[in-house]
Amino acid sequence: MSRYFSQKYASLVPYTPGEQPKDMRYIKLNTNESPFPPSPMAQSLARQAAGDLNLYSDPECRELVALAAQKLGVQPDQILFTNGSDEILNFAFMAYCDQEHPAVFPDITYGFYPVFAKINNVPYVQLPLGEDFSIRIEDYIGLNKTVFIANPNAPTGIALPLADIERIVAGNPDGIVVIDEAYVDFGAQSAVSLISKYDNLLVTQTFSKSRSMAGARLGFGVGNAKLIQDLNTVKYSTNPYNINRMTMAAGIGALADEAYFQKNCRAIMETRAWTMDMLRQRGFTAPESMTNFVFAKHPGVDGKTLYQKLRQKGILVRHFDAPKLTDYNRITIGSQEQMQAFISAVDEILEETL
Ligand code: PMP
Repeated sequence: MSRYFSQKYASLVPYTPGEQPKDMRYIKLNTNESPFPPSPMAQSLARQAAGDLNLYSDPECRELVALAAQKLGVQPDQILFTNGSDEILNFAFMAYCDQEHPAVFPDITYGFYPVFAKINNVPYVQLPLGEDFSIRIEDYIGLNKTVFIANPNAPTGIALPLADIERIVAGNPDGIVVIDEAYVDFGAQSAVSLISKYDNLLVTQTFSKSRSMAGARLGFGVGNAKLIQDLNTVKYSTNPYNINRMTMAAGIGALADEAYFQKNCRAIMETRAWTMDMLRQRGFTAPESMTNFVFAKHPGVDGKTLYQKLRQKGILVRHFDAPKLTDYNRITIGSQEQMQAFISAVDEILEETL
């Protein structure tokens, strides 16, 4: 740290992204990326947009917003696109949290929430999950705080039904409820249908997972037009051109190519079922996942050892060194071939260890 670094950030512990090593070619099952390339339509539109990079991008993202609004069945003024969904989540912390409105989220969830709270100098409360990693709905009623819930949750993969989400939104009429749906396209129910009924609901989604665009950085928020106005005030006060031309063009292509999106989501869900079956046959336990990852542990091999041994065999998964998580690994669902290689490596490790 330099002696010039502001005191306000001196104690900040930044978010640690999953590793992206370059020392060898790994099978990457550690950052919940898609194993499939972006839609050919997305790639071709992005290539065309490259020739116009001398010009600023459209700060209103009009074409992209119009298409997304049509797909989601909402109005264009109910959507705001951002640089990944991380940006809309940060905007929500900036817009809706302060000393009078602390943030609240589960103790086991997306690791960026506490970092967003700290950089924005916002107090936060972490509510413990149940023993089985379930979110206890009754803990989230009448809080008068700003609620952040990843649905499905990460790294557990567990999804809440829409009725439970609605109870939480209806149970906090004086506070904003943010539902982070980064993984919703892999079998969970979206809360977007509730935004016209509740003015305190913000739903966020991303193109990083189900639309194979993690490297492009594209996410968005959907909510009441007044909320979107608030979030635009934050956006236009930080980075009006937050979506670059190539990403915007790719996003339009990805939304237009519905068949490709559906096919890839189906493939991930099928491979997830196969992987879960293989893991359970080998003695692993894992909560039922509605995401593109599974969160698994084995009674005979501790989480860190399994992570390290897989790494030596060229397979990266995500291990969290936290007390309630250390037995587990979060394993991204890759292609069927990648998961076969993963299961073969697991077999070798179990044979060596047990
Ligand atoms: N929410 C959750 C629960 C996530 O796991 C992630 C991915 N790390 C994000 C949001 C942010 O993803 P992105 O910024 O790529 O949209």
